[in-house]
Amino acid sequence: MNKNAFRQLSYGVYVVSTWDNGRATGCTANSAMQITSEPATIAISINHDNYTNKCIQDTGKFAISILGEHSDPGIIGIFGFKSGKDHNKFDETESVIRGYLPVVADACAYVVCDVIDRMETTTHTVFLGQVVDADVLKQDDPMTYAYYHKVIKGKSPKNAPTYIAEEQPCAETAAGAKYVCGICGYIYDGDTPFEELPDDFVCPVCKQPKSVFVKQ
Ligand code: FE
Repeated sequence: MNKNAFRQLSYGVYVVSTWDNGRATGCTANSAMQITSEPATIAISINHDNYTNKCIQDTGKFAISILGEHSDPGIIGIFGFKSGKDHNKFDETESVIRGYLPVVADACAYVVCDVIDRMETTTHTVFLGQVVDADVLKQDDPMTYAYYHKVIKGKSPKNAPTYIAEEQPCAETAAGAKYVCGICGYIYDGDTPFEELPDDFVCPVCKQPKSVFVKQ
């Protein structure tokens, strides 16, 4: 089986959010799809190890914030590379309440769902949600997963359904690459070949300092 075939599937980049006993929490996700239009239903896939999974099971509700190409890529890091168990992720980014759920303000659209069914796989829960609210927040092209990889140069967290072990950077980013973020896999290749990583450099995806970068 050639898992590179899976890379030909199209995905977006989303923040799936819900409440944790009155505290807003959520995680980055790329697996969300519309299942039916009437009534409108959406399915998402969340790893069992993600704290958000338990919170969605408890509340029976989730929201999807659809990130755009102009959304701050730091949002992906805040929600994708830390656990909501220990971090108040929504303290680090502006949010709005829509359909009684927390939604990322810097997203291009949102969808709010009530969980109506779920299916357990060996590693992930597939939640089926009936849409109770949805709207466009700003005009922007939705960020595709391909854009995240090629333009933002991010990688998949291990809990992502689309994670492929020992991901290799694609050829065009590897050509001038020198520093790789040890947390999120972001590749810094500078504006010019062999440019040094500035001392005050902060990873644009996960916001970690220069010290976590590994020289290739
Ligand atoms: Fe990073």
